[in-house]
Amino acid sequence: MTESIVCGLIGTGISFSLTPPMHEREAQHHGLAYAYKIIDLDVLELSVDDLPRLVATARDLGFRGLNITHPCKQRVIELLDDLSSDAARLGAVNTVLFDDGRAIGHNTDWTGFGRNLDRGLPAVGLDHVVQLGAGGAGAAVAYAVLSRGARHYTVVDSDLARATALSESMSRLFPSQTVDAAASADAASVIGGADGLINATPMGMAAHPGMAVAADVLRPDLWVADVVYRPAETELLSAARSLGAPVLSGTGMTVFQAVAAFEIFTGLSADADRMTDHMREL
Ligand code: NAD
Repeated sequence: MTESIVCGLIGTGISFSLTPPMHEREAQHHGLAYAYKIIDLDVLELSVDDLPRLVATARDLGFRGLNITHPCKQRVIELLDDLSSDAARLGAVNTVLFDDGRAIGHNTDWTGFGRNLDRGLPAVGLDHVVQLGAGGAGAAVAYAVLSRGARHYTVVDSDLARATALSESMSRLFPSQTVDAAASADAASVIGGADGLINATPMGMAAHPGMAVAADVLRPDLWVADVVYRPAETELLSAARSLGAPVLSGTGMTVFQAVAAFEIFTGLSADADRMTDHMREL
């Protein structure tokens, strides 16, 4: 009999995550017996302090792997036996593979954003890119765009200390590129000279309607990408699109992080187009 593959997602507020059906449907196409469990800390009335117990239990029960999300992506690192070089450089793990008794951490958020950018906006200018939001998603996005050679990268956050901390850590990782920080109040002038703008704040989600910048900073020659994926068409993307600017939604980041995690868990190639179609149906 074929061995079942069991995976899970640990984090808070994930009860309605699209990741389980995305993985399970792709597994069906490969003829795999595959179950993907939600382990929602809120629902279980647990906290990040319970993470060591949860990870140990998943390993003991024979889980193939785990996806890890907010607020556990940094805390999980101390529980692992090894890290991919990019996860180590980023200091964040969203995918854990249990392999022969060892727990190995990966980060598919940054590859997810990067592959989405490569596919959706393949030839855009990267001389100066401005990113709004310096949280967990922002770190992955900055790493992806700087890895693709952005010459000047500016991180803007309503909490300037967070923008400064992320810009300093990226500057250490990419010393030959210019990475700096700016306050939200200065966003319009910074964006004025930029090629691209990326939203990595929660603004645009149903729970956080609106945009992190005023619409008048947008221009037809300013490409705009969003990490928010529900809705796929945020107010920011809609405003940029109406000017004729190149735009990229967060849907692809979600799909490609799942594609890469599926491949790590199964050793098989996932079909990104099929997973995208399926995500749109969900
Ligand atoms: P986070 O809370 O860690 O960070 C958000 C950052 O945005 C904070 O530093 C906050 O100060 C800043 N911010 C909030 N409102 C702002 C505003 N108006 N102007 C400037 N800065 C502002 O959150 P996160 O985990 O980084 O997630 C951010 C968003 O990314 C969420 O909407 C999440 O759903 C999305 N996300 C998408 C994917 C994907 O695969 N598409 C993956 C991860 C996260």
